[in-house]
Parts: sequence; C-alpha cells; structure tokens
Amino acid sequence: MSFATRKEFEDLGLHYISLCEKEVCKMTDLSKFKLSYHKFDWSARRRSSRGGWYPNKGGAGINIAMHHTCGEHYKNTPVDQPFRCYEYKSFDADPVIGGFITNNREHYLAMVIAHEVAHAAQYFRKYIVKKSSGAPHGAIWKTIYAHLRKTIINPMLPDQKVMKEDYEDYKLSLQNNKYEGKIDWASVRTDFEMMVNERKEAKRAASHS
Ligand SMILES: [Zn+2]
Repeated sequence: MSFATRKEFEDLGLHYISLCEKEVCKMTDLSKFKLSYHKFDWSARRRSSRGGWYPNKGGAGINIAMHHTCGEHYKNTPVDQPFRCYEYKSFDADPVIGGFITNNREHYLAMVIAHEVAHAAQYFRKYIVKKSSGAPHGAIWKTIYAHLRKTIINPMLPDQKVMKEDYEDYKLSLQNNKYEGKIDWASVRTDFEMMVNERKEAKRAASHS
C-alpha cells in the first residue's frame, strides 16, 4: 500500500471521526462531546484499535490499528473481493450493531471508528458529564454505537443478501478451480490467507477494547 493510499485512508478516517462526533452530540447528555485525541497507527504489530479515556492526551480519544483495519495485510486479495467484517463475538449476529459483508475496506474502517468513538463517548459521559459510563460493551455503549451504526455506517452498506451470495460464490469459485485441476496458486494462497485472516479477525473481535 503506497503512502498516497495511506493518506487517503487517514482522510477517510478523519471524515468518519467528524461524522461520528456530530452524531454523538445529538444524544442525551453528550451534546458537548468531542475527541481530544486520535491516532492512526500503521504499525503492523498493532492489531487492536482502542477507544477510551486518555488522561495524558486531554480526554476522550481513539487509536485505530490502521494496518489491520485498512487491509495492508491482504496483499494477494483482489481489491473488490467480498469479505466479512466481524464485530465483537457476543453481538456479531445482531442486525444493527453486528458484523457484515462488504467489498469495500472503507466500510470496515468506518465501523471500527464508530465502535471506538462509542467507547470514547461512554468515558466522556463518565469523566465530563459525571454520569455512569456503563460496562465496556454494556447498554450505554450499545446505545451510542447503535446510533452511529444506524445514522452513518448501515445506510452505506451494500445489500447483505446479495453480498452474502457474492461471498459464497467467491469462496466456491476458489474451490472449483482446485477440483478441476486448474490450480491457480495465487487464488489458493488468497483462499488460505482469507481463512487465516477470518479466524484472526474473529479472535480480534473477541479481544479488542
Ligand atoms: Zn469495543
């Protein structure tokens, strides 16, 4: 991924941060919400994004694991290939705040930013508004995140029924290539990487903050 592309992703990141801030401000108790800090971390070793309270940075903040979120590790994957974005395991199947299938990395970046901004907002509620923050993925966090999903993320997602068919077709086509003896090693490797990445992402979704 070139530097220009990283810059593009960071600009997109700023765009979604700004949209999320505006939407959080429409919520009860959170009209003064703003992020004091954000970081786009491109280190390949950073797998988990974080949103929360950064006392040394002036308050509510987020740190986004860009290498992972923007797909720098999907080197052999065709750009338009459908992929599954995982959410936290306990609500991954939820139709509003759960995971989804898309062919656009931007959607995943937007989802991660909304997720982490919701954490930042719950701690803003605690330390600035002096009301409960609730548990990390508890009712208060879920209410904020659901609002961001409904207003910003979900309206731009592709039709999930169509996407699911594309996703299954894609996986099947990789398998068929193998059965017919037309082994396309690039596809096999992509297939393998996709499997490994899906597992890693499912794990990440279960472990991130
Ligand atoms: Zn979280």
